[in-house]
Amino acid sequence: MSDAGASGLPLVGVFGGTFNPVHYGHLRSALELVERLQLVRLHLMPSAQPPHREAPECSAVHRAAMVELAVAGEPRLSCDLRELQRAGKSYMIDSLIELRGELGAGTGLCMVLGCDAVLDITTWYRWQELLDWAHIVVISRPGWELPQEGDVAQWLQDHRVEDANRLRDRPAGCIAIEELRPLAISATEIREMLAAGRSARYLLPQSVLDYIQTNKLYR
Ligand code: ATP
Repeated sequence: MSDAGASGLPLVGVFGGTFNPVHYGHLRSALELVERLQLVRLHLMPSAQPPHREAPECSAVHRAAMVELAVAGEPRLSCDLRELQRAGKSYMIDSLIELRGELGAGTGLCMVLGCDAVLDITTWYRWQELLDWAHIVVISRPGWELPQEGDVAQWLQDHRVEDANRLRDRPAGCIAIEELRPLAISATEIREMLAAGRSARYLLPQSVLDYIQTNKLYR
């Protein structure tokens, strides 16, 4: 997005995930997106009780603490704890409605998710209402492709804007697809490495690795 694209509504992003643990695939993508879309800020939002998977063995408090360590010192990224503070399953729609209430109609809200996550979006609670509250920004992820046919492909096509500057025209309702630096890092692989006693160094911040070691996580 060029400087000229910064006219229109300011944009705030929210990037939800299990972050079990947070790694450079998340962090570098988050920062590149902040700069690409000129986001005012991007909240990394750990899911307390992910609706789509078994409760992670690592507690939400630990996962959030690792996100907080990872974003320390980068003022454009922050850790949003709202899903830890809310009882019950962590539904994205509830968080978007809360964020929209806080931001008001004068700010665009961008929900960020990876290409892999968008594939099962139709299983998300009230998925068709997500665009009533936010834009959706789908980011590339190595090893994953967007669907070419079916409900998700149609939904993407119906709402997609080619030019991300269009996200500033209204507070919600559009889908942008952004190709970012490919980083083939996954939390599953990091957990497996650690459980096998191998080093995960350089795949995630050292502060997060130190936290994992101190708290004896993923053994
Ligand atoms: P797991 O391996 O446990 O499933 P993960 O590495 O996929 O974890 P999540 O916390 O589940 O991480 O992902 C949160 C969000 O970050 C999702 O939208 C996912 O698509 C995206 N994401 C995760 N890793 C990357 C990556 N390497 N590049 C781009 N996006 C990513």
